[in-house]
Amino acid sequence: VLRMEAVRKSFGGSLVLREVDLEVAPHTVTALIGASGSGKSTLLRCANLLEEVDDGAIWLDGEEITDPRADKDAVRRRIGVVFQAYNLFPHLTVLENITLAPRRVHGLSRAEAEERGRALLERLALGTKADEYPDRLSGGQQQRAAIVRALAVRPRLLLLDEITAALDPELVGEVLALVREVKDEGMTMVIATHEMVFAREVADQVCFLDAGVVLERGTPQEVFGSPRQERTQRFLRRFA
Ligand code: ATP
Ligand code: MG
Repeated sequence: VLRMEAVRKSFGGSLVLREVDLEVAPHTVTALIGASGSGKSTLLRCANLLEEVDDGAIWLDGEEITDPRADKDAVRRRIGVVFQAYNLFPHLTVLENITLAPRRVHGLSRAEAEERGRALLERLALGTKADEYPDRLSGGQQQRAAIVRALAVRPRLLLLDEITAALDPELVGEVLALVREVKDEGMTMVIATHEMVFAREVADQVCFLDAGVVLERGTPQEVFGSPRQERTQRFLRRFA
């Protein structure tokens, strides 16, 4: 679904991604782990064309999206993104939040968008919250609604950046349970996370970023169970 080749990105002279290669197969979950500042968010932002790469190339479904001629808006419409916080529009109800992009960007009628939105909320255990405003929801429910909103346009790929980082610990579980459910439905995802237990459980592929380099990659068993690199071992020891 997604492929990155030798992607480089720097900000003001400091190289944040150096020669990053990544391959994401359909219906798989890739977890990006690594210390703060290692480049996880930047990698996701490059994948979504929120940042322009300095060098290298990125493909989505075989189409080179880093090609200057690529239609950036069309690419972004195929990729759902959820960040750490502030994902929902506070002045819109949950259902309005969820139907906004399908109506405005994808041209669905209000009735179609609402029917689809309610079904999605129902399926993902938020059916009773459709007509509430975000400030009446718990942080966990808000993040779940944000994920549902990203799914409402039926993206090819979902990018999740530290979606539990701003949550109270007791709310983390329900958000991660939803991610697991979305995975079971076959969505392809790339997830930047500090939740190692979750990464280990849910990911098909784990990439350890260190100073802008994918220092180690493999199955969770490989990366968590027997990390080859000394730096990976040191990083993971902090979570043991
Ligand atoms: P965290 O775990 O804290 O979210 P991260 O792995 O997501 O960290 P990034 O946010 O990708 O790290 O940042 C990588 C480096 O790039 C950091 O040194 C950061 O200061 C720098 N950086 C990121 N975005 C910008 C920007 N827009 N301008 C300048 N520097 C930036
Ligand atoms: Mg980040």
